[in-house]
Amino acid sequence: MRDVTETLLHDVVVGGLERLYEDDPELYDILEREADRQRGVLSLVASSSLVDPSVLASQASVAVNVTAEGYPGRRYHGGCEVVDDIERLAVDRARSAFGARYANVQPHSATNANYTVLSSLLRPGDTFLGMELEHGGHLTHGSPAAYAGQYFTAIGYGLTGDGRIDYDQVHRLAVQHRPRVIVCGATAYSRVVDFARFRRIADDVGAYLMADISHTAGLVATGLHPSPIDHAHITTTCTHKQLFGPRGGLIMSGRDADAPAPRGSGTLSAFLQRAVFPFSQGAPALNTIAAKARALELVTTAEFRRLASGIVDLARTLAGALTDLGHTLVAGGTDNHIVLVDLAPLGLTGLAAERALEECGIIVNKNRVPRDTTPALVTGGIRIGTNSAARRGMRRSDMLVCAGLIDRVIRSVEVHDQRDYHLPTEVRDDVRARVAALCADLPIPGYPTVERPPWGSAALSTPRVRSSR
Ligand SMILES: *Cc1c(COP(=O)(O)O)cnc(C)c1O
Repeated sequence: MRDVTETLLHDVVVGGLERLYEDDPELYDILEREADRQRGVLSLVASSSLVDPSVLASQASVAVNVTAEGYPGRRYHGGCEVVDDIERLAVDRARSAFGARYANVQPHSATNANYTVLSSLLRPGDTFLGMELEHGGHLTHGSPAAYAGQYFTAIGYGLTGDGRIDYDQVHRLAVQHRPRVIVCGATAYSRVVDFARFRRIADDVGAYLMADISHTAGLVATGLHPSPIDHAHITTTCTHKQLFGPRGGLIMSGRDADAPAPRGSGTLSAFLQRAVFPFSQGAPALNTIAAKARALELVTTAEFRRLASGIVDLARTLAGALTDLGHTLVAGGTDNHIVLVDLAPLGLTGLAAERALEECGIIVNKNRVPRDTTPALVTGGIRIGTNSAARRGMRRSDMLVCAGLIDRVIRSVEVHDQRDYHLPTEVRDDVRARVAALCADLPIPGYPTVERPPWGSAALSTPRVRSSR
């Protein structure tokens, strides 16, 4: 009965692709090249994932045509009755994926979500406590380079000598500075965050607790990392890292949804609604909200649970293998999807390692490590993540191969100065070929695959495509 080719959406999306192909080869070719790059490289970037094609299709929907300032049932424009259903569905799915009582699906990113929360709870100059960037915190958690660090008084906490969050320091700083908000959650931290302990500290000084789970949202949703929903007053996340969704953000609240908001302004959930719109954002991106709804539905499936345990399993395998190969890991290992390698013992910079690995088709990112003295664009470490590897169905044995390849590359790099390095050609060619073979063995589910290794210009310009399904 149901036939997708007879739907309006099908014709618009497929027709749009055909028109783009005919009319704008310049842009089409760039987009095609990016699709080809993704299938031919091994992305081990901790802050990314590979979305299901149905998430892409949802985002390509005609909901983009609707301007809908406000919330379902209370919009500032007409024509919103259908998109209201999209937003209600996304809110319901966010609440059930995280067991939240309140969810706002409108933030355009986690940065927006964090600034929405901070700039509504705080007044300019007010004090808040967040994790130092150097120790694994995010820019929005108080870095002097960012808005939050410049408009508020940001106090930073960090790690102990063994690479764990220094909760005693958090408590000490909280008592000393009496922040209005404490931010927990991180961007480069490989261990479990003790949200209950953060809440006790927040209660001790009368602060609101905001948990930013952008990196671990998939593990939280599947119970593989403790949930902050009922510990933090407010939980924020992006939807494009471990939720395998579109670029966007969420704001949620659990037990404290009806707690009093600041300055006697009603409940926290009503306050957060106003904090997103009209305080900090205009009209929501309803096509993106449709894609969030799709991703949040997938998050509750048994398949996603298996994916999430694969993510953790691969990260542990990688951490164990790199340790056995003599490398130094921040915090000595991992409980989540992140492995942070301190390159100082190799006399190597994060920049050189990132570039050398990329030459071989292994994509990671340079990252600050504790006590790092290098510039922000050089860094003394690399951050490796397993979201995308697990999505490609990588097994432990493949990850051991990967660890060996990473080890070989970073031990073969000769560094001339902080930025200039040399990777011997024979190492590069050999590792490239092995990465290409691994990628050919591990197609991205739902994406077209290539029958032979994609390296070399001939292969790049005329890929022979077969469907992976
Ligand atoms: C990536 C990240 C963000 C920012 O996410 P965007 O959606 O890219 O703005 C915020 N907080 C943490 C902890 C992150 O890791």
